[in-house]
Amino acid sequence: MSDSPVLEAIDLNKAYRMPHGVVQVLESYSLSIAQGEHVCIMGASGSGKSTLLHLLAGLDVPDSGEVRVKGEPLHSWGESKRAAFRANAIGVVFQDYHLMPDLDVLQNVLVPTRAVNALPMSERISLAKSRLEAVGLGDRLDHRPVELSGGEQQRLAVVRALMNDPDILLADEPTGNLDAETGDRVLDDLFRLSKERERTLVMVTHDPRLAERCDRVVRL
Ligand code: ADP
Ligand code: MG
Repeated sequence: MSDSPVLEAIDLNKAYRMPHGVVQVLESYSLSIAQGEHVCIMGASGSGKSTLLHLLAGLDVPDSGEVRVKGEPLHSWGESKRAAFRANAIGVVFQDYHLMPDLDVLQNVLVPTRAVNALPMSERISLAKSRLEAVGLGDRLDHRPVELSGGEQQRLAVVRALMNDPDILLADEPTGNLDAETGDRVLDDLFRLSKERERTLVMVTHDPRLAERCDRVVRL
């Protein structure tokens, strides 16, 4: 693990403004994550965990404060640079998966590879198939997300987030819908891959067993 932060939240403020009032979610919030570090974010429902993860991914904009990636302020980049960064360097597993409803399992996993094109299509397809097989989805390739169980959708979302082998994986309750055995299998893969390649993991979880496997637990 290197000491220079790969991802920093600096003095973040974020509120949601609605007709009936303002919800202040993050107030002067700062966090620094080193390359290769495995961080768990825990906290009560509604404490702002998903909001923080979206800000770290550059998917949402803070009211004030800064997110820095390897020292660079993410929100000062133009949209196309941010999109390229998300495609290449960041994988996100959303709490509600954000799968493409009209695409089958295999096509969903291939979506992030379209933006990167590092491998010829035939190799991307065989990589996708072998990763889907590894999480028990090998016989679901032509199913739509709606035809999968919650746990299967979650495994699909994890495989998709890892397709471009991102430096940073942000995952929102990645085992929330998995039984203990499947959850452990998905996590074993996540931790093994990220240890081997010094990948950074930031995971929101309520699962104490997952928290135990992280280098650090951050509470919101
Ligand atoms: P957590 O993931 O920790 O459960 P969230 O980050 O999803 O929490 O939400 C934090 C707070 O912000 C909650 O009170 C939630 O109701 C509110 N909130 C989240 N997203 C929105 C939104 N798009 N519009 C208005 N309020 C929101
Ligand atoms: Mg949440």
